[in-house]
Amino acid sequence: EVPKEKHDYQSDVARLRKIVINSLYSNRDVFLRELISNANDALEKLRLTALKEPEVLTGAEELNITIQAFKDDDGHGRIVIRDTGIGMTPEELTKNLGTLAKSGTSEFLARAESTDTTGTGNLIGAFGLGFYSSFLVADRVYVSSLAAKSSQTPEPAQYIFSSSADESSFETYPDPRGNTLGRGTEITLILRDDALEYFDTHKIADLVNKHSSFSSQFPIYLFTQRTEHVPDEETVEESPAEETLEKEVDEDEAVVEDVDEAEETEIKEPKMKEVVVDEWIHLNSQPPIWVRDPKTVTDEEYELFYQATFKDYEKPLAWHHFSGDTGSGTSFRAIIYIPSKLDDAYWTNPLATSSKDLRLMVKRTFITSDLGEDALPKWANWVKVVVDAEDLPLNVSREQLQSTKFLKQIRQILLKHILQMLTRIMEEDSEKFEEVQKVYGNVFKLGAVEDKRNRDKMVALVRFHTNQRNSTSLDEYLANKKKGQNQIFYLADMGKTPEFLANSVFIEKLDARGYEVLLLGDPLDEIFVQNMRVWKKVQFQDVAKAGLKFGDEADPEEEKQELEVLTEKFRPLLDWLKGQAEEVVRDVVISNRLVTSSCAVVADMFGYTANIERMMSSAPA
Ligand code: ADP
Ligand code: MG
Repeated sequence: EVPKEKHDYQSDVARLRKIVINSLYSNRDVFLRELISNANDALEKLRLTALKEPEVLTGAEELNITIQAFKDDDGHGRIVIRDTGIGMTPEELTKNLGTLAKSGTSEFLARAESTDTTGTGNLIGAFGLGFYSSFLVADRVYVSSLAAKSSQTPEPAQYIFSSSADESSFETYPDPRGNTLGRGTEITLILRDDALEYFDTHKIADLVNKHSSFSSQFPIYLFTQRTEHVPDEETVEESPAEETLEKEVDEDEAVVEDVDEAEETEIKEPKMKEVVVDEWIHLNSQPPIWVRDPKTVTDEEYELFYQATFKDYEKPLAWHHFSGDTGSGTSFRAIIYIPSKLDDAYWTNPLATSSKDLRLMVKRTFITSDLGEDALPKWANWVKVVVDAEDLPLNVSREQLQSTKFLKQIRQILLKHILQMLTRIMEEDSEKFEEVQKVYGNVFKLGAVEDKRNRDKMVALVRFHTNQRNSTSLDEYLANKKKGQNQIFYLADMGKTPEFLANSVFIEKLDARGYEVLLLGDPLDEIFVQNMRVWKKVQFQDVAKAGLKFGDEADPEEEKQELEVLTEKFRPLLDWLKGQAEEVVRDVVISNRLVTSSCAVVADMFGYTANIERMMSSAPA
């Protein structure tokens, strides 16, 4: 008996486990996806650490994931998932599995606790629960882990974390078997009686193929046993697991071989007997989707790959899969994805979203997801990209990469393709483009301001509300211009809705005369207009400024005279009003810009607009 240390779960974990245990039956499949994804993360960590500290590779040669399902001595169904990844020290076992470090989990908890059970089920499918999804199918879970040998853990020891579904605490203790793993982590699930369906290797193979073939760049092997008919005399030795592990058997091939063998032996030796052969089947033997011909990849495969790779539980809005050459002899393949949401931190924290999801591979092996802070301009750095370069050295480090031409070239190529992709959606799929606008509309305005080299293409993507329609591009606006109109009219008032702006006194007259006015309620709208000033030689004109000219005035001279006459006539009233409001307005004048309202307060022709003034007064001095 080894001494066991008892730990109480952090309160969040207890809450989460309660949700897990009460959750819907139909979402239980996710446990396997989550555990495989963790195994893959651990293997990836190991491989990246090994670049600097090769010592961590000692203990186990192959980097892989193995899955076994069998009945234990007590007759319980067990699933054992093992990886040869970085492993965990005893302290890490407690910290990583006993607390909620996961950033998305608190959001999940908040949402799960505020919805009914049906909603919770959907949430689990959407978010995943990480390690805790084990309890969807298991009464008890053992995690045995042996950290990789390194300068920090020179003498690692194999420890067990053990927890049952209905306890509010967990235990850790040295593995009584000793350091049997070589390196890495072994998760043992003691299946609940109502989860015995997962005991079936076909079921496991199906699940891995459907949900996890993209979650791991490392081979996933499933242990199976099949019955073979062999000649009676011959003593057939069961092939040891390690041996069969080496050869990558494709499932289909294996079946064909099986038939051949059977037929051959039947002719030679009619007397047969049944033996059970242990076999490790390589589940994810398909090439990764980016190296495949796009015509052979289904939408679902693209979506599942995206979700697994970028840990986004939403489906992407769109993607673009292409191959090319950098021009300096490096051929590559790439998939660009448009996520369905912008990161929450996109506008508030520029560094939080600096192109962290540009995953660079070399010959299918992941190298880095950090291509430098300025890999893409800000307006484009929300894309998620996988790039696989064929002709770079595998051991190239990120630092070395920075000095190659490759990075510079690939950034430009990616940017070009992102623009092409967006333009194509705009031209060919208006429904999709509407969705894209909803999420990225403001980003395009930012791009038009910031990315001077691509300004024309960015402006083409920008859409505005107007008093006449929900969405127009600047080119459509110009095409809709009235005869004699030589300005692009806009009304800007930060934070106001288009509906509110459409009722403003400032556009009464323009509206009545049939002019289209851009209704700008977003801070970026006004920044856009201030930066552009003109588009296709037509000036932007703020309709809230004094001295507004429409362009179709009958005879400017005549109108001017008419105004002068009226001004004289109403001089006493104007003077009186001016006296009353001396402190707040510069002048009181007769105007012909209003149709139904009796008066309006407007900004000086050369002054700030009300909007900008508001921004300035709220800015810290
Ligand atoms: P997440 O994977 O999002 O961090 P999980 O609940 O899935 O959340 O896992 C929690 C943590 O436990 C991981 O971040 C990792 O540090 C650790 N962990 C889980 N499984 C493994 C494993 N197979 N090998 C090494 N560490 C693991
Ligand atoms: Mg995880």
